This record gives sequence, structure tokens and C-alpha cells, in this order.
Amino acid sequence: MPLSASSSAREILTGLHDIMAKRGSAQSKLDRVVDLIAAAMGSEVCSIYLLRDNVLELFATHGLRKEAVHVTKLRMGEGLVGTIAEGRILNLAEAADHPAFAYRPETGEERFHSFAGVPIVRLESAIGVLAVQHAEPRIYQNVEIEALQTVAMVLSELIAGARLVDGARRGRLRSAGPLRISGLKLVAGMAKGQAVFHEQRVIVEHTVADDVEAERTRVYGAFRKMREQIDNMARETEFGSIGEHQEILETYRMFAYDEGWSRRINEAIDSGLTAEAAIERVQQRTRARMQDIDDPLLSERMHDLEDLSNRLLRIVSGRMGTAAQVGLAHDTVLIARNLGPAELLEYDRRRLKAVLLEEGSLTSHMTIVARAISVPVIGRLHDIRHSVEEGETILVDGDAGSVMIRPNRALVSGFEQRLAMSHKRRAQIEQLRPLPAITTDGLKVSVMINAGLAEDASHLDLSGADGIGLFRTEFQFLVSATLPGRERQQRLYSKVIAQAGDKPVVFRTVDIGGDKALPYLADMHDEAENPAMGWRALRLSLERSTLMKAQARALIDASAGRVLKVMFPMVCEPWEFEEAKALFEEQVEWTRKAKRGLPKKIEYGAMLEVPSLAEMLDILLPMVDFLSIGTNDLTQFLFAADRADPRLAQRYDWLSPAILRFLKRVLDAARAADVPVRICGEMAGRPLEAMALIGIGAENFSITPAGVGPVKAMVRSLDAGAARKRLDKLLAKPPREMRKSLADWARRHSVTIG
Ligand code: PEP
Ligand code: MG
Repeated sequence: MPLSASSSAREILTGLHDIMAKRGSAQSKLDRVVDLIAAAMGSEVCSIYLLRDNVLELFATHGLRKEAVHVTKLRMGEGLVGTIAEGRILNLAEAADHPAFAYRPETGEERFHSFAGVPIVRLESAIGVLAVQHAEPRIYQNVEIEALQTVAMVLSELIAGARLVDGARRGRLRSAGPLRISGLKLVAGMAKGQAVFHEQRVIVEHTVADDVEAERTRVYGAFRKMREQIDNMARETEFGSIGEHQEILETYRMFAYDEGWSRRINEAIDSGLTAEAAIERVQQRTRARMQDIDDPLLSERMHDLEDLSNRLLRIVSGRMGTAAQVGLAHDTVLIARNLGPAELLEYDRRRLKAVLLEEGSLTSHMTIVARAISVPVIGRLHDIRHSVEEGETILVDGDAGSVMIRPNRALVSGFEQRLAMSHKRRAQIEQLRPLPAITTDGLKVSVMINAGLAEDASHLDLSGADGIGLFRTEFQFLVSATLPGRERQQRLYSKVIAQAGDKPVVFRTVDIGGDKALPYLADMHDEAENPAMGWRALRLSLERSTLMKAQARALIDASAGRVLKVMFPMVCEPWEFEEAKALFEEQVEWTRKAKRGLPKKIEYGAMLEVPSLAEMLDILLPMVDFLSIGTNDLTQFLFAADRADPRLAQRYDWLSPAILRFLKRVLDAARAADVPVRICGEMAGRPLEAMALIGIGAENFSITPAGVGPVKAMVRSLDAGAARKRLDKLLAKPPREMRKSLADWARRHSVTIG
């Protein structure tokens, strides 16, 4: 040393290329590699350590004693070499001064003072260490360290190709064994499958360039394409919370056009790497530099840069599609940072067993859709994308909100037993589906389902359900790139009505706004501080009356000759209901004048999900044909607890006396006014909650399709009269642990809670 910029790295790479191309054992190649590097870098020592059975073993050396080869071994984290294998780069003038220094007499290294080393990385995991040493104390120049990294990159190809480490992908992850990670339960359910990345990671196979200029052209082309994509993304309307989305895009843009980044990749190409290897090499360097910075904001930005770097890699290697476009070959556990509803729906549902996200929230659109199609989802799994490799087995326990990566045989068999039991239980319960939901004392409970996905219209499983009690019309708006026009809406409603046959369908007018923002209605995104309490649902529809009129016309036309049941979301005052109904009636009048077919009858309902409406029931009830209680929103407004905030997800219980007392008051008032009430929030889809609801007088539910069997099983084992008596008592003097009291009572009375 010293080394003159990238030219020496290039000289080494040419030499490595020759060594790799020639015949010979892997060991003899490594022996020649250390000689080559030592000579080219003017270094007194060059050593290669490889990870085998979790231990770093000295595999080849120039300058240390040959007797130490295959004898000197260090654990991960032990000594300087073990420290480097954990992903750090060391550059020390005096090795012995470092706290991790571990002296190994057999190597004869006491003569050498300075020490520099870099990890040899494959698929983001260290599989070995490349180190150089010098007698005179000195710090190596940046350019020398970078040359070492470049060489390490090429070595990783040689090592993986020669299978010198167990399996080509051996590394930190694999050696870590089974790993349990906990996150936030978004959609319950159990699943087993192989890890598949939504956006695939590219394995760099060839590191040494045959033609440097050709590689440069490739990387320029890839940069151009990536920038184009990012610009298009920013222009196009996409799904997701737009505020966050835009922020991410802005950061992407900043990185995509960062001159420093492209320059470093160019320099790596100058040193003789292929375009792929150069991109990865720069990514590794950034990762190593960021490792010691403990700033959550910065690490978030690192994610963005990694995403972008992976995107560039995919472009340059021509592997652009998402896993959905490539197709799923096995039972799959899909892994992504985040996912939109449309992206989720692109997957083959027979193979897609679960989704694991680094982000995600309870009421994100994708979660609502996943729940509708019964795919378990766990969110907020920290760093999941770097904790698992493609193809590894994952056990998903959506009920506990945890995943087990790389399970051993015992874990898999335990899980499979539980899975089989849960399947069996579900199969037993599913047998009850076609049977009527009648309690042991003869009360008929109506069990309908919630629906909303356009594509579900063709295979709506209404078997065993009494109809669709809540059709969330906004789903069509959410999964469209542009505002669906009246005709498109009408086509969907007609399909749904046809599919439901004789069974009723209750359409809810769009509940957009708030967290269900539509990118194509730009002025909706005013970044309100509390979007759930903002300009949404009926408030928005009444002001944007063109939108509501088009929907009214679509519903009226689709229901010609039948009964149309329609309800309005988030009614806060009776006059809002009146206004909405009047708007519909205007459209009926128009249809009549236009001599088009009219519905036989229109029944109008209000959704009670804002507490204020409960104070106005004496005015409201005479106006409506039916009432529908949305417990999802009602709970968040009663408790002032954002339903999207995962920190509050478990804080307030649906079985709390406050909710049950509130609901009972509404149910009693509606019964006295002879107005039917249906409960349509997620609460009613859970057997214990449904039991409590029957106990306070509810008789009509609309629930998630997966809940039909379990709720029916509960209903058919329940004595409604006894439940009412019990609830009256409990609500008169509520215990602190209402859930426990109810569960105990259910157990004592053999109520099937599942
Ligand atoms: C509710 O709020 O309970 C409800 C059924 O409506 P959504 O979940 O669509 O807001
Ligand atoms: Mg609601």
C-alpha cells in the first residue's frame, strides 16, 4: 500500500477473474487469492476467514503462520474478526488497543500493528471476513477499504459457487436458527407457508465485469428507468394514505436523483464490478456506515434507500415484476414493507396463506380487504424483510400476532397439530352454516354478512347467511384508480343483487374521506389532524352531492322492480338523514319522469355510529325504516380512541359496560318505536360479543363472512332468556372484568364460544 484509487482494485479483480476461471480446488484458489491481494495491496498479511458451523475459521492466509489455517477459529462477535462478521468494518492503527482484540499465538500476528477488515457478505449476511495487516501502525485510506470491499464482494461469489460454506446462502440468518417475532394482529388466523417477498430480492450471481463500458451503459439505463418510474409514481394516483405516500415518494425522488449515489456506483464499476455487483457494493457500504447511527428517523430513511437500491437492482437484472406477477408456486407467506388493497388482490388466493408487513394498521384498506377474503395479516413486524430469506418456512399465528421463522421439526409438528385442531373445529362449525340461527329457547337471530369487494360479487358465499346486511360501496372506489362512474357502479350493484337472489342486500352509500381517502379526489386530502372525525362519509356526500346523486341513480336503476335497501353512514343529526333521503327521492322523481324502471319500494336506514345520534332517537326513529349500528366507529367515538392507532387496539373492550349500556339504550328505544336494528361492526362477528349483544336484546347481525359459522354455533347453544337475565344483572352492577364474567358464564352454560 498505498493503493492508487480503483485501478488496483481493478488489477485485483482481473487476477481474481483468472483464478476463478481456472481449474483447481477451492482451497488452492483461496490460497492464490490471498497472495494476489497481499501483492496488489502491498500488504504484509492478507487472510480469509469463513463461517462454518457458526464459527469463523481461518481458511487462507498470506503472512500469518500456515499452521494456523483451519486451526484458528473465532465465534461470531469474538475478537476483531468476529466483530467484523457482525457487519462492521474495522480500520485500526493498533489492533491490540481495540476492546474486542483476542490474541491467537498460533498465528504469529504479534508483529503486526495495523489491521483492517471487511465482512464478506452474501444476501445481506456475513459468510466470512477478509482482513489485511501491517507491521507499521497506520490507518488505511478510504480507497483501500473500498477496494477490500470490492474484493470481498467477488470473493463471496467464489465462496458461494465453491460451496465452501454450508449451502450457498449460509450466513447470519440461517445460523440464527428458529426466530419468533411479534407484531400487531391485523387479521386473525393460522397459516404455514414459504416466505415470498412481494418485491423480490435479486441475488447477484456475477460480480466481475467482462466489459466495463457495457456495465456502465446498463447502469445508466437502469437509473434512467428508475427515475422515470419514481416520477410516474408521483404523478399517478395510487392507493394508500396519501400524506404518508407522498412523503415516501419525496424521499425516493431525493435519493433517485442523488449524484453521490450514482457516482459511487460508477466508481465501483470502474473498479471492474458488474452493474449488479456495483449497486450491491454501494448498498453494503451505506449500510455499514449507517449501522452505528442510532436515529430512528435516519434508519427509516435507510429503508427507503434500500428499497430504491433493490428497485435499481431489479431493473438492471430484468426482474421487475412483483411476486404476484411471477405467480405463486407454493403455499405462501407474503412479506412486504406495506401493501395496497389492489396489490393484495393480484395474488392467487388459493396459495396466499398469510401476509406479514413491516408497517400496516388495523383499519388500512388492505387490512379490511384481507379480512374480507380471510387472509391472516400481522403488521408492525420489525425488520421482517431482513430476518427471513425467500423460501424459508414461516408459521403464522395471527391470533397471537406472532410468527415463527425457520421453525425446527418440533415446532412445526406442534403448530400443525394446533392448525389441524383449528381446521377441525372450523369444519365442525362450518357444518352449522346452513342451519338456522335459533337459540335453545326459540329466538330466531338473523345473521347476514358484510361485503363490498367488486370481485366478490361473482362468488359471494351467501350459504348460511340471511343476506348482505352491509355492502360497503366505497370499496369499489378504493380499489379503482379513477372515480367509478354511475354506469360502473350500477353494473356492480346489479351483479350483487343478482348474486344474492331472494336474499336482501343493504347498500351503504359511500363512506369515503378520513382514512379512506381517495387519491383522485385531491381536495379531500387536507391532512386533517383527526381524519376519522373529519370530512367523511355522509358529511362529504351531502356537500359533494353530484357524487351522491350518481350513486343514488346507480342504486335506483340497479334495483328496478325490487326493494332497494339503502343506508347512510355517520349520521350525526336526524336532519342529515332527511337531507340524504330527500336527495334520493329527487332521483326517484327524475327516474319516474324519465320513464325508467323504479324499485318496488325503497327502505331508508341510518347508521348509528356517532354517539350524538343516540340522543336524538325520538326524532330520528319515526323517520327511518331501519337502524344499523356500526360498532367500529361507535367505539372509537365513545371512548375517544382512534380505531387506527395500534397502541389503543387493546385498551378498550367491546364488552365494556359503557358500550353495552349504550347499545342497550338504543336497542330498547328502537324496539319501543318498532324500528328494526342490525349490528354491523366487527364486534358482532365474535361469538362472545354476539352472545352479550343477544343478552341486551339484539337479534340482527351483519358480520364478516368467516364469523357466520362460529356465531351460529354460539346462537344454537344459547338460552337467550337466560343470557338477558345475566346481562341485566351484570349491567346493573358491572364488574371490572366484564369479559371474564361473560366467558365464565358461557362456559358454565355450555355456550359454544370456540
Ligand atoms: C362501523 O363503523 O362499525 C362500520 C360497520 O363501518 P366501517 O367499519 O365501514 O366504518
Ligand atoms: Mg363506520
